[in-house]
Amino acid sequence: MNDKQLTTSSGAPVADDNNSISAGGRGPLTFDNYHLFEKLTHFNRERIPERVVHARGAGAYGTFTLSKSLSQFTRASFLQAVGDQTEVFLRFSTVGGGQDSSDYARDPRGFAVKFYTDEGNYDIVGNNTPVFFLNDAMKFPDFVHSQKKNPRSNLPDAARVWEYWANHPQSLHQMTILMSDRGIPRSWRHMNGYGSHTFSFYNSDGARYWMKWHFKTDQGIECVMNEEASELPSHGAQQDLVDAIDRGNFPSWTVKVQIMTEAQAKTFPVNPFDLTKVWPHDLVPMETVGKLELNRNVDNYFAETEQAAFAPSNFVPGIGPSPDKMLQARLLAYQDAHRYRVGVNHNTLAVNAPKCPVHNYQRDGAMASGQDGRQNFYPNDQQDLPQPEASMAPPPLLLEEAWVQPYSQDEEDYYSQAGDLYRLLSDDEKDRLAVTIAGGLGQASKGAQQRVLGFLEKADPSYAARVGLEIASQQA
Ligand code: NDP
Repeated sequence: MNDKQLTTSSGAPVADDNNSISAGGRGPLTFDNYHLFEKLTHFNRERIPERVVHARGAGAYGTFTLSKSLSQFTRASFLQAVGDQTEVFLRFSTVGGGQDSSDYARDPRGFAVKFYTDEGNYDIVGNNTPVFFLNDAMKFPDFVHSQKKNPRSNLPDAARVWEYWANHPQSLHQMTILMSDRGIPRSWRHMNGYGSHTFSFYNSDGARYWMKWHFKTDQGIECVMNEEASELPSHGAQQDLVDAIDRGNFPSWTVKVQIMTEAQAKTFPVNPFDLTKVWPHDLVPMETVGKLELNRNVDNYFAETEQAAFAPSNFVPGIGPSPDKMLQARLLAYQDAHRYRVGVNHNTLAVNAPKCPVHNYQRDGAMASGQDGRQNFYPNDQQDLPQPEASMAPPPLLLEEAWVQPYSQDEEDYYSQAGDLYRLLSDDEKDRLAVTIAGGLGQASKGAQQRVLGFLEKADPSYAARVGLEIASQQA
C-alpha cells in the first residue's frame, strides 16, 4: 500500500471518505457505515478535561547548557560537568483563565520546565513570580474559586477576587507583583521564570543545601499596560513564541540559583520555606549556572503541549523537596491531575517519557504499551530484573519539632517584603500600581477595602495612602 492511501485507524484502505453508505438516494443510512462511525465516535472523544488552572498555554523544546558545575552541592547528573547539555520542554501558561481566555490577562504566568536527564525527568513547575498568594495548600481550591468566574453568572467578578485577598494577608506580596507594571508580560519570551519554592540539593557526601531557581530572561523584561492588553489578539503570546522559534530567533534565559546551608536556614531572618517570601539577594546572592534556550516548536499541539504532564514530584537523585508546605501538597496534586486528565500511563507519551530507560514493576492501566511479560512483583528471585539502589537515597531530614496538629501561619510577617517591593518602584510605577489596585478593589465591599488598606498600611503607609486616594478619586 502506498503511503498516500487513506486508511481507517486499523490500517485498512478507505474507498470513500466523502459519502455515507445509504439505502438508496432518499433512504436512511445502513449499519455497515463503520468508517463513518469511527470518524464520529473518535471526534466525540477529541477533548480531555482542560486543566483546572494553567489551562491556556504553549510549549516548546530546547536545551539547558551548564556553565558552572554544581557538584559541590548536588549529585544531579545533569549539573556536574560544565558544557553538558540537557534537552528540555518548557510550557508557558496563564493561570486563572480557561482555554477560551486571553493571553494578556493580568495573571501570573506558568513557567514549567521538564529536563530530560540521564537519571530521569526533573520538572520545575514554576511561575513568572518568585512568590505565591498562599503558603498552605488547604486554601488553594478556595483561592482559585475566588479568582475564577462568578459561579452564578459565569462572568469575571473583581469583588470576589478582592474579598479573598482582603481575608488573606499572605496574598499581599504576590498581589503587589501582579498589580505592578509586571502584571501583564508582553510575551512569554519577555518575562523571568522562578522555581518559587525552596528545594533541596544533596551531594554525593550526603550534605544537604536549600536552593531556589531563577530564570532571567535574556530578551529583557517587557510588559503591557491594561489599555494595550485589552487591544491585543487573544492568541498573541502563543503566536509570538511559535513565530520567534520558526524564524530561528531562539529565546533564552540565564539560569541562576540561590543556595543556603541547613545551618544558615536555622537563623535566616525570614522563614526560608514560606512560599510568600523571597530570599533577599543581599542575604543570599544569585549565582549563574547555565543557559536555557528554546529552539524547536512542537509538531502537534495536542499530543505534546496539551498532554504534557509536569509534576513537582519528578525529582532526580541530588534534588528533592523542602519542608515548604505548599510544595509538599503539590507533590501529590500534580500527579493526581495527570492521572485524571491524561491517564495513569501518561509518562509513556513521547513528551513525558524519560529519555533514559524506565525499569519498574508497574503494569497494566489504560493505554498500557511497551510493557513486558516478566515478573511484575518485587522482590523476586530473578537476578536480571530491576533492583532499588540504596545509595540513591537522600540524606535524612532532621525534624526539630515533633508534634502533629494543624499549624497556623497567621503570625508570619506578610507585609515587609510587599513593602520592600513597593519601595523599589519609581513614583510613576507606584502611581500605576495604585490605579490598578483601585480599579479592582473599588468594586469590593467597603469592609474588604478597609481590610486591604490596613494590610497596605503595614507594608508602607504611603502605599495605603496612594491606593486610598485613588479609590476616592475613581469613585468621585
Ligand atoms: P533586589 O533589589 O536585590 O532585587 C529586586 C528584584 O525585584 C529584582 O530581582 C527585580 O527583577 C525585581 N523586580 C523589580 N520590579 C519588580 C516587579 N514589579 N515585580 C516583581 N519583581 C520586580 O531586592 P531584594 O532581593 O532585597 O528583594 C526586594 C523585593 O524584590 C522583594 O520583596 C520582592 O518583592 C522583589 N523580588 C525579589 C526577588 C528575590 O529573589 N530576592 C526576586 C524577584 C523580586 P529584575 O532583576 O529582573 O529587574
